[in-house]
Amino acid sequence: MQIARAAADKGLRCIAFTDHYLTRKTKSLQPYQLNAYLDEIETVRTRWKDRLKVLTALEIDLLDLELTGRCLPGDEFLSKLDFLLFEYVSDIPLAGIPLAHLLSLLQDIPCPAGLAHTDLPIMFPHRSADELLEIFRQHRIFIELNEAYHRPGDALPFYRHAGDLFLKTRNRSVYFSAGTDLHNRLDLLGAREAVAFLEKLDLKSRILPVAQWTDPDVQQEKYNYRQTGSR
Ligand SMILES: [Zn+2]
Repeated sequence: MQIARAAADKGLRCIAFTDHYLTRKTKSLQPYQLNAYLDEIETVRTRWKDRLKVLTALEIDLLDLELTGRCLPGDEFLSKLDFLLFEYVSDIPLAGIPLAHLLSLLQDIPCPAGLAHTDLPIMFPHRSADELLEIFRQHRIFIELNEAYHRPGDALPFYRHAGDLFLKTRNRSVYFSAGTDLHNRLDLLGAREAVAFLEKLDLKSRILPVAQWTDPDVQQEKYNYRQTGSR
């Protein structure tokens, strides 16, 4: 509730809750807590419905996920989510599950997926920007810009190194979200800076779910995603 209030006060129109699910790196949701998590977000959604669009999601740690996908929530729960965020895809230093493997897991996942705080130029050195963006478009993977992650010894967040890549999305249906790693802070400023960065690149209309509301193609895709869901 506090986070929703802070978001509304900062003038954001949409927020998504993306709590960690089954990760070892921090306190995270366990399978038995998923229904309570959905209920809690529903309460927030109802309370703020006039000022804020509230989305339900989870962040999945690809370092902890089994290659079989066995540590994902069950299908019944996945169909109730607006999206899943995956962190550490193809993360070379940390040995995250490679993108190619994630793509095969996504075939069985009914909700859209995003890549959380990924240093795209570093993590995919062997793929051209065109190749990478084509994969994202085909598999409906969106890109999260997150203020909290930096290269060692660098003050800029990862996304600031990916401007050229982002510009190449102009003629493709590839979408973005702006993220903050709240964990213990109630600081939503990062999301605003990421939004401003996309605005400068003239890509603000590609931020979900603004894009979902205005782009008929995406609305259709959203319908496809949601047809098995409850909302
Ligand atoms: Zn994360």
